[in-house]
Amino acid sequence: MTGRVPVVIGGGGPVGLAAAVELGRRGVACLVVEPRTAVSHARPRCKTINVRSMEHLRRWGIADRLRAEAPLPVSWSQDVVFCTSLAGRELSRFTGVLGLSPDGDRFAELGQQAPQYVLEELLRATVAGLPACTLATGWRVDTVEQDGAGVRVGLLDEAGGRREVDAEYLIGCDGPRSTVREQIGARYEGGQALRPNFGMVFEAPGLWEHVRHGPAVHYWIINPEAPALMGPIDRDGTWWIIALGVDRESGERETRRIIDAAAGRPVEARVLSTDPWTARMQLADRMRVGRVFLAGDAAHLNPPFGGHGLNTGLGDAVDIGWKLAAVLGGWAGPALLDSYEAERRPIQRRVIAEATANMAVLSTELLAANLDDADAAGEAARAAAGDRIQATKHAEFHSLELVLDAGLEGSPIVAQGAGTRLPHLWLAPGRSLYDTLGPGYTVLVLGEADPGPLERAARDRGVPLTVLDLRGHGVRGRFAAGLVLVRPDQHIAWQGDEAPPADVIDLVRGA
Ligand SMILES: Cc1cc2nc3c(=O)[nH]c(=O)nc-3n(C[C@H](O)[C@H](O)[C@H](O)COP(=O)(O)OP(=O)(O)OC[C@H]3O[C@@H](n4cnc5c(N)ncnc54)[C@H](O)[C@@H]3O)c2cc1C
Repeated sequence: MTGRVPVVIGGGGPVGLAAAVELGRRGVACLVVEPRTAVSHARPRCKTINVRSMEHLRRWGIADRLRAEAPLPVSWSQDVVFCTSLAGRELSRFTGVLGLSPDGDRFAELGQQAPQYVLEELLRATVAGLPACTLATGWRVDTVEQDGAGVRVGLLDEAGGRREVDAEYLIGCDGPRSTVREQIGARYEGGQALRPNFGMVFEAPGLWEHVRHGPAVHYWIINPEAPALMGPIDRDGTWWIIALGVDRESGERETRRIIDAAAGRPVEARVLSTDPWTARMQLADRMRVGRVFLAGDAAHLNPPFGGHGLNTGLGDAVDIGWKLAAVLGGWAGPALLDSYEAERRPIQRRVIAEATANMAVLSTELLAANLDDADAAGEAARAAAGDRIQATKHAEFHSLELVLDAGLEGSPIVAQGAGTRLPHLWLAPGRSLYDTLGPGYTVLVLGEADPGPLERAARDRGVPLTVLDLRGHGVRGRFAAGLVLVRPDQHIAWQGDEAPPADVIDLVRGA
């Protein structure tokens, strides 16, 4: 932990670890500094690992491992249920939610429900297996100083021990209370929700016997006694619940009452941990100062409804990871690093807007006194609630346009008409087009145009380029042009029917 390292990553949560994987797989040495020695299971927080994150995990070779370690397989359920309680009446249901159902060629991986700690533990193990990466636990970033030549990062351990590390670049992935953000003089802008929420993890092995709605990944509890959102962590009786509009004090006092009300009857339950939180809609006023970048929750916060925070942070990590590797590898220009903020901020803004819209109608907004009544008025109230749920909540559970189609149009390093994620397709059962892309740029050859000039321009500039001849696969109709230049992150950088002028390679490498 002394001397000079190309990249220091402040924070070894999911986003910092993902950045380390992206860099380490490209052979770039990095030091991840993380105060927590072990990953805690007390706050499972993220459960929705979306389709796009799973595509990145597939590229890293660990998607199958995450599925093997996730306590609930995808086959377990793809439903979200709205009900008056687990033992009460169903009001509405969404199926094929959160990218958990196949959709032809649209993506290379289904989403996965898994507690955040399962992903973090897997990423820690992956980082440990990459010779270029070092994870230094028990240390935190304390100070950041930089000049044109590098960044000096001051580290502190729990006992007050001090070290200094010099780096070419620093990525601040140190979460909502980011020291790195503060040290570079950036600040969050935005607001927060008016109501608090109270999360819990509890064990109730007998609860399944009373669930009237079958398996689901979420149960939204529309019940004046405990408006909540809950779901199973595993099939053995461990559950998470978020009591909506409940503050820390009343939550701690009423844990058992909340669980019984959501269950719809008294149940044997043991609370394992509690987690009070308030939704925030915040974006750092900048994501980069000189050689220091912000990623993940250090740069943006959104309400968790829809399951986007960690997934967006993973997208940041991938973006800054391959770009820093390119610059340190000597084949990219400075505009590549400028494009990080230009490409990520529109996506972060959109995520904050959509997650905020998802928060507009929660269980608390759907309450009615007679939803459990057996009479005609109860029936009518349930029908009205069901209609409102379908009208207001569909987008939250079917958000693949946001997850997959957030393009990079307007980026300074993609050509006009490019920037979207490469259309996915299966070349053979289990063999994704994405599996055949190179680690750098890839040019797909779909028609008669000669990729030779592009290859020569790349070779002259030291840009890694793989040529992938897809003629004969009958897939030309799936693409807008006969030559498609794909970036290391599977986005289209340029496309055309004739080999482009050499300056296209300069544009996409930020020279
Ligand atoms: C109830 C809830 C549910 C959620 N559900 C989802 C979901 O379904 N899907 C989703 O995508 N997201 C979800 N999220 C959001 C998700 O939890 C966060 O977006 C995610 O944890 C962000 O990861 P991160 O690595 O950026 O930050 P963190 O997870 O906060 O990690 C930051 C790391 O930095 C370390 N650190 C702190 N200070 C320093 C320092 N000075 N130096 C070095 N290291 C430091 C911390 O110890 C920590 O390990 C949810 C959030 C909540 C509250």
